[in-house]
Amino acid sequence: MTTVFTGRIRPFAPSTDVQVEAMAVDDATIVAIGSAEEVRRAHPDADVVALDGWVMPGLIEPHGHPGFAAILLSDLVVDLRPVVVPQAEGVLAALRTAVAEADGEAVFANGWDSLLQRGLPDPDIHFLDELAGGVPLVVIHNSGHSVYFNTAAALAAGIDRTTPDPAGASFGRDADGELTGVALEAAAVEMVVAPMLAKAQEQLPRILPAHLRDLASRGITTVADLSWNPGLGPLIDALRGKGEMPVRLRWYEMSRPGGIPSARGGDDPFFRQTGVKTWSDGSPWVGNIATSFPYLDTPATRALGLEPHHVGRANYTSDELSAIAEPYAAAGWQLACHAHGDRAIDATLDVFAQIIARHGLTDHRFRLEHCGAMTSVQFERAASLGVTVSLFVDHIMYWGEVLVDDLFGPEHGGPWADAGAAFAAGHRVTFHNDGWVTPNEPFRNMAVAETRTTRNGYRMPGGTPVTRDQALLAHTANAAWQLFSEREVGVLAPGLFADFIVVDRDPVTVSAEDLAATQVTSTYLAGVRVV
Ligand SMILES: [Zn+2]
Repeated sequence: MTTVFTGRIRPFAPSTDVQVEAMAVDDATIVAIGSAEEVRRAHPDADVVALDGWVMPGLIEPHGHPGFAAILLSDLVVDLRPVVVPQAEGVLAALRTAVAEADGEAVFANGWDSLLQRGLPDPDIHFLDELAGGVPLVVIHNSGHSVYFNTAAALAAGIDRTTPDPAGASFGRDADGELTGVALEAAAVEMVVAPMLAKAQEQLPRILPAHLRDLASRGITTVADLSWNPGLGPLIDALRGKGEMPVRLRWYEMSRPGGIPSARGGDDPFFRQTGVKTWSDGSPWVGNIATSFPYLDTPATRALGLEPHHVGRANYTSDELSAIAEPYAAAGWQLACHAHGDRAIDATLDVFAQIIARHGLTDHRFRLEHCGAMTSVQFERAASLGVTVSLFVDHIMYWGEVLVDDLFGPEHGGPWADAGAAFAAGHRVTFHNDGWVTPNEPFRNMAVAETRTTRNGYRMPGGTPVTRDQALLAHTANAAWQLFSEREVGVLAPGLFADFIVVDRDPVTVSAEDLAATQVTSTYLAGVRVV
């Protein structure tokens, strides 16, 4: 059964400025694309569907966390994210209300960010005990890299002063060794939120598909999960069985020191493992990215509890990171490493270079994630190694002023997430919204990379804007390539799946402001309308 879709089609192949009139789709796959006359002559018996609007490849989110975001953005968790609750008073009021209505249940809240929600108190164990009393209260930092908890929550999670720090992570402790109510980095965060994840299990058949449908409604047809829980596999299979899987999923398992890699194999175009995630450093917003330069000494850094001229450090030594990554690389997996600070990036590139040389790897596409303080020289070194980069440019939108005025100054904060430098070094750069950390708004993300301007209209005093062509490819063809999926998706071309979206304006020619406001009117996955 062949369908011919007609409209104003931007296939992004062979280049983004090409426009055609028709696309024939047979059994999920594009079989022809070109002028309406040619395509219809070749497929005279096809159904014809006229699409109203502009048609382009489905968007790809190359670094998301749909498994965890489905829970954090659900009704099981109090939503404190600064994009929803901008002021400190609102955050505290929401927590008090949730505790008052807890009815014996633990309260989990997500989105604390004292850099944007100015005036928040130090969320230590004493403050949270006072706020919540005997109700277990867990507050997740918006970055996901730290979590705050009270005494009752520690008890519920089975954590006390005798609990050792997991590798690459830590619990805050006072001079007497007592817990201060903060957990830093994934392995410790996971221990604190484990009761919430257990509670969420039975709700996942409801909340996971709802979250995936939300992504599809935003034009995303392929999403990568950089911290996938393999226990969700059966649920995905069940959704597919019911025809309710609205996106393709590419997932990365979370590396563990001494972890045993899963076996490679499988070419399922809807759902498969792509690689393994490691973490070289942490979040700029909590003080634990590894940089060659200190944080500024400002009221904001003091409020974060940082000593004057604090310098963050990496989660692991290079030897430790190498030991963690080696078995996964030896098993043939693509490595994806979180790295923000320039020191973390150097260390990660050193480790990648050793692994690449040791195994004689050629098409490894090892990834660096976020790349906040990555320099032009580092982008060039990464490119020469065949290492690819995914930039968190949306940091600029929300934290641009914070980066420059509060944390790093114009020299190091100004060029933050320098996508233009990455493209100039020859990378097939991608952008991301990182799950729940910023709203999944790929078009706005692209516009931010072009304007390097915050939501308040502040233009970053450094870094290089990208072109429209680069911005569009970052969430389509480049992202497909980064996920080893370029033979399946990313452009509209014969032989590839018919994953496309219809939008209300021409994404190639509108202004950056208009691009940011693009509305998705329908989403097609493998030729089938899902939204
Ligand atoms: Zn992430």
